[in-house]
Amino acid sequence: MLNVTVRPVECVSTCKICNAQAPLYGVTDFQKSCEEARGHYLPLTGVPIYYHRCNECGLVFTRAFDDWSKADYVQHIYNDEYVLIDPDYVDARPASNAAFILDFVKKGKDLKCLDYGGGNGKLAGLLRKDGLDAHSWDPMDAADAPPPSDSFDFVSAFEVLEHTPEPVATVREALGLLGPRGVLLFSTLTIDHVPPRGMDHWYIAPRNGHITIYTRRALDTLFAQEGFRVHHFNDNLHMALNNDPDWLS
Ligand SMILES: [Zn+2]
Repeated sequence: MLNVTVRPVECVSTCKICNAQAPLYGVTDFQKSCEEARGHYLPLTGVPIYYHRCNECGLVFTRAFDDWSKADYVQHIYNDEYVLIDPDYVDARPASNAAFILDFVKKGKDLKCLDYGGGNGKLAGLLRKDGLDAHSWDPMDAADAPPPSDSFDFVSAFEVLEHTPEPVATVREALGLLGPRGVLLFSTLTIDHVPPRGMDHWYIAPRNGHITIYTRRALDTLFAQEGFRVHHFNDNLHMALNNDPDWLS
């Protein structure tokens, strides 16, 4: 039995983005992972994780880990077994994201880039090999390095926002790293239409640390509160900006 302590559950919570009422949406085992979509199932732990869904913006979120420290996350989620339930994390995703970024910023000159939530730093390393001034910083980094004091022309945040228990604070931190006319490019799967009790959706996966799942409206609301607008390239890839930089035209 996994020794995980989670918060007691409220029937109706408050949306972490728009503060509207968010009734209970469903429950799943702590061990549910995204790899179930590929037919890989971990043994269940008996630890129930409840999710709420906002009546207004549609945000699906759990408060189960709201009291966790960074050490709790490292022990129970981002541990040695994490690679088993997110195998693309190591190489495949950084390589494809690097190719995309190189194309995305190709009109820019000497752009200072940061990969926010960059984990192992692989993506920034690949970008540096191709001549970009690329840096990496991860709020969950075990070394506990403080966030960079510099500002950046371009910040990427791939598969980050679904991992935060505090979407407002995380987005504020990421946007705070942008210089004037900076651009945040980020991925997180938006699910605009979920059925009642749709907990079988592969992306709602506590073992992967997927604890906040957005709709496009939830993202729009979240970034508007910070003075930014969001462009949705598709359900997974988005861009936030306030003033368009020349290199993006
Ligand atoms: Zn909401």
